[in-house]
Amino acid sequence: ALTIGIVGLPNVGKSTLFNALTRNQVLAANYPFATIEPNVGVVSLPDPRLQQLADIFGSQRLLPATVSFVDIAGIVKGASEGEGLGNQFLANIREAEAIAQVVRVFDDPDVIHVDGKVDPRSDMETINTELILADLQTIEKAIPRIEKEVKIKKRDAAELAAVKAAQAVLERGDTVFSSIKSDKLEMEHLKELGLLTAKPFIYVFNADEGILGSTEKQDELRALVAPADCIFLDAKLESDLVELSEEEAREMLEMNGQEESGLDQLARVGFHTLGLQTYLTAGPKETRAWTIHQGDTAPQAAGVIHSDFQRGFIKAEVVSFDDLIDAGSMSEAKSRGKVRIEGKEYVMADGDVVEFRFNV
Ligand code: GDP
Repeated sequence: ALTIGIVGLPNVGKSTLFNALTRNQVLAANYPFATIEPNVGVVSLPDPRLQQLADIFGSQRLLPATVSFVDIAGIVKGASEGEGLGNQFLANIREAEAIAQVVRVFDDPDVIHVDGKVDPRSDMETINTELILADLQTIEKAIPRIEKEVKIKKRDAAELAAVKAAQAVLERGDTVFSSIKSDKLEMEHLKELGLLTAKPFIYVFNADEGILGSTEKQDELRALVAPADCIFLDAKLESDLVELSEEEAREMLEMNGQEESGLDQLARVGFHTLGLQTYLTAGPKETRAWTIHQGDTAPQAAGVIHSDFQRGFIKAEVVSFDDLIDAGSMSEAKSRGKVRIEGKEYVMADGDVVEFRFNV
């Protein structure tokens, strides 16, 4: 499932953010361990192209792509040893395709911090250390088996080398994801281990005005987490925003000097982090964005609509969004020669407007 797991220390604003994500009014209690049950929240990926297409096709409704988030229980020191909510946490997090780590950087003497002070660097270290320890356990368990399989030539020695390289990264206290480039880690050999720190990370800094208004402070935090992506939002503000009309919400954002809500940012960055892109279909009934992986071929894209479309794929009629908008109509795009017929090998581009031909 293409879900992003939300993790963080207790009391950093996970429930508050998650409420905003689901528009649910789950009680965000000012109490450690308040978040126990995993839940899924779905947000739409903002995409202004949909309205433009709908105008051309006279579509009755818009269906944007979505990004799903799983609210995972808070993590504490010792979680990798099964303390607190640790085991539950680790089981849930394995299911997620990427990890959004909520980090408290807001000041509020009324909100208790589990370690007694607001210290994003130490908070991230606490979380990442638990994930790293869990991964080290996974690797230590796997190595004897992999060694045996290399010995009987069931496996390539390169696979063992890749696992040992990852082990070295973890032993020095780094996450696999942040070390892929620097350590030239061979990710295809690590896949089967399901390492938690190999998942893409997004850091969500739950901030106050002091930080939302300071690019300097944001840059400092961004540097701390690079090469992972990060966003800055105010979880409390986000949960207020979802209660407002679209217009009121926009005004409130403008007053705060923000162009986009934190949830929209989160959806966009999450989508990007997951390596996803969208293609579009349009007609009088609906204009819709479909989620595919970057690099997917036309039949794979068709399979997202229906598996029969992939099996019976014949060809795709494709026009790029920009060409279609320039032309102003499908027939004009055709007469300009902008509508291409693509076959099985075609690799989809973001924003392709597509109609599939298939056998049933
Ligand atoms: P969780 O344990 O990580 O799920 O944290 P909660 O979402 O339950 O939040 C803990 C407390 O912090 C609650 O009282 C929230 O109202 C408060 N809180 C959450 N986000 C913010 C924020 O951005 N600013 C301030 N001042 N308080 C917040």
